[in-house]
Amino acid sequence: MSARILFRDVRHWRTGARVTVAVENGVVVPVPAHGFEGARVFEAPDAVLAPGLVDLHVHLREPGQSAKETIASGTRAAAAGGFTAVACMPNTAPPVDTQAWVEWVLHRAEAAGHCRVHPIAAVTAGQKGEQLAPLQAMAAAGAVAFSDDGAPVADAGIMRRALEYARNTGRPIVCHEEDPSLKNDGVMNEGFTAARLGLRGIPNAAESVMCRRDADLAELTGGRVHLAHLSATQSFDALRDAKRRGLPVTGETCPHYWVLTDESVADYDTAAKMNPPLRSEADRAACIAAIVDGTIDCFVTDHAPHMADEKDRPFAEAPFGIVGLETALALTITFLVRPGHLTLARAIELWTDAPRRVFGLPEVSLEPGSPADLVLFEPDAEWTVDPSRFHSRGRNTPFAGWRLAGRVLATVMGGRITHEAAAEAGAAEPAMTAEAAR
Ligand SMILES: [Zn+2]
Repeated sequence: MSARILFRDVRHWRTGARVTVAVENGVVVPVPAHGFEGARVFEAPDAVLAPGLVDLHVHLREPGQSAKETIASGTRAAAAGGFTAVACMPNTAPPVDTQAWVEWVLHRAEAAGHCRVHPIAAVTAGQKGEQLAPLQAMAAAGAVAFSDDGAPVADAGIMRRALEYARNTGRPIVCHEEDPSLKNDGVMNEGFTAARLGLRGIPNAAESVMCRRDADLAELTGGRVHLAHLSATQSFDALRDAKRRGLPVTGETCPHYWVLTDESVADYDTAAKMNPPLRSEADRAACIAAIVDGTIDCFVTDHAPHMADEKDRPFAEAPFGIVGLETALALTITFLVRPGHLTLARAIELWTDAPRRVFGLPEVSLEPGSPADLVLFEPDAEWTVDPSRFHSRGRNTPFAGWRLAGRVLATVMGGRITHEAAAEAGAAEPAMTAEAAR
């Protein structure tokens, strides 16, 4: 059902001006002069209306790992976080390395209906790093990019050939940068905390040397390289240099790298175990600097749900990864906008227009004719992170109990309401106000 929706007197995400935006039949339409019969009205004077957020790096865990997450639960979590589109990684069981699996993911996502899903397909068959997967056919089936994420493409010759084939599809390769011989059996950042805890470290160079290699391969082949989840000072420098050289290289980072350091591992806390690992305070500062100076092209969550019993294992044995979809916007507002590193408009751009540009996804705006993929949120509303209320099956977050600013009131995808905070709070009022949403 394609209902009418009216956002009345909300703030425009870019200009801050008061606007009224009408939605009908899945698109933004001119505001009718004389009423809008049957429209669902959202009135929230402190709320900001923006294009739906986009996350180019999530793990939805299907096929094969539905105990961690399903396409339905992961996309429901995305809607709750204000996202209307996600790109999902192919390191499932089995990996998404054929046209048929790309189509399967698209069908499952369509059936769930919570969020647009753009599959990222494997670079190599089985993500084994040996034989190229059928990149052309997978692109034709709807793959927006290719990645062996979860693992690097360690062999430079195979990466060269992959970039040559990917270039012909117009799609980027999303590079999980990690030199296997430098990462070795490391489980956290190499440094004082790892030494104190007696844990094996992963040096910054494990990431950055691969960033440099793949920038050079982008130059050699003309293929597009997108550097995934950057964490280290030297990697930000590598991306900055690649851009200075005019190479087709883009890069992303995640909220945990601008919020946390390896000290969060504290006392073997597996909620702070992710790959790449949380780094030093200097790296956190370098991350923010790379965001502020425009080196970083877009934000992603690297949403990586795991079961509680997996994360309850000893630190060295627990899986890498944290969930991120339901805290991303608030971590951005609380730790980048509130301290003055970014304006709200720029922060939102890095979750909307910017990732759409990187993957060539259709543009979304608040103007008539645009697809009605929208998020309404209150930047100043504070809330406490309670993982038991996540829509994701994953509860693995280092932010449990944190007080954050920035709360999603409603998400609309293709003109349908896919998430509504007031409905969850049990509010009966059909016309939501900011009060009702608190
Ligand atoms: Zn990765």
